[in-house]
Amino acid sequence: MNILVINAGSSSLKYQLLNPETGDLLAKGLCERIGIDGKFTYKPQVEGKKVLDAIDVAMPTHSEAIQAVLNALVDAENGVIGSMKEIDAVGHRVVHGGEAFNKSVLITDEVMKAIEDCIPLAPLHNPANLTGIRACQQVMPGVPMVAVFDTAFHQTMPAKAYMYALPYEYYENDKVRRYGFHGTSHKYVAGRAAAMLGKKPEELKLISCHLGNGSSVTAVDGGKSVDTSMGFTPLAGLPMGTRSGDLDAGILQYVMNKYNMNIDEMLNVLNKKSGVQGVSGVSSDFRDLENAHKEGNERAGLAVDMFNYGVKKLIGAYAAAMGGVDAIIFTAGVGENSANQRLAIASGLEFMGVKMDAEANNVRGKETVISAADSKVKVLLIPTNEELMIAMDTAAIVKG
Ligand code: AMP
Repeated sequence: MNILVINAGSSSLKYQLLNPETGDLLAKGLCERIGIDGKFTYKPQVEGKKVLDAIDVAMPTHSEAIQAVLNALVDAENGVIGSMKEIDAVGHRVVHGGEAFNKSVLITDEVMKAIEDCIPLAPLHNPANLTGIRACQQVMPGVPMVAVFDTAFHQTMPAKAYMYALPYEYYENDKVRRYGFHGTSHKYVAGRAAAMLGKKPEELKLISCHLGNGSSVTAVDGGKSVDTSMGFTPLAGLPMGTRSGDLDAGILQYVMNKYNMNIDEMLNVLNKKSGVQGVSGVSSDFRDLENAHKEGNERAGLAVDMFNYGVKKLIGAYAAAMGGVDAIIFTAGVGENSANQRLAIASGLEFMGVKMDAEANNVRGKETVISAADSKVKVLLIPTNEELMIAMDTAAIVKG
């Protein structure tokens, strides 16, 4: 069974062709500058097939982009499948499913309408995701399509975790609540953690730390998300590459008055000029910060310290929320690659049964137990794979 996974942005489209049963990746790539001129990248994962690297392909709309993907996949010389018939279904990443979707769903007209209804909650992302779905429907009529939502995994949170302490009408009338994001990633690594530990998801209390350019931590109790650090938008929680994370809303009034800014300008600062970039003044990239700190840049060190401290506090909070924790998971760019940051985050948690194995921790990008053999709480490095999770969900739904 082959599943085409599509992640459509407003002018770009990422794709992967995967076999969800074996986990094999057949090809992946990217369409960029859709609606402008069109650049096409194709990376077949089969020996002897040629890579296309940002070649010119006219893409006035997403439909031409999808057509370019299909042409490459079935190409007589460099394709990885014989014909389009070998694509069993398409899995679409959709950012926001609001309260309407607590799991992945087969796309119908009704589902499209419900995704449209969520546009006010994700005005930049959902319209692009819808465009990607419509383009696929046009180019691949009759092929089943599934929507997989970033928010769905977190729909199991109890009200005490998702409500904001605002007038209740904002929730009732305007759907203002914590939704959480990175759900596909948290769900995937939580599933892998259970497999690595030889337990059923229902038996485990997990804390999943997705630490990348965007970061979030999720408490997973019995296989269900019970709390997560991102909120109504992905601006909440930890300080990130350029996002502020949580802050005192009173700061907004003070700064906006002082610098004569409107709310759009303020939000631009919070989303694009804050986080570790804002504190360090160096970079939003954690590798640059580590290097700058080694060369004596104190603010770069402070930015990383603030981030690590934020993750550590969330681990403590979520262990308390669940009444314990069996395993802590590190994933995404920083979580998979930075042994130093994993160690800094986990150090000082010995009181709650976390004991790292410094040698085992000296690893990147592969599933590894990085806690000591006698650590009460296991610490796991698990590379995330959102595309595989989307393909697995899609396969499960089309198989019925
Ligand atoms: P992601 O958003 O998951 O792609 O993660 C991107 C982040 O991972 C960037 O800030 C990178 O600097 C960070 N990253 C990648 N490799 C390393 C590494 N070896 N050490 C520290 N951070 C890393």
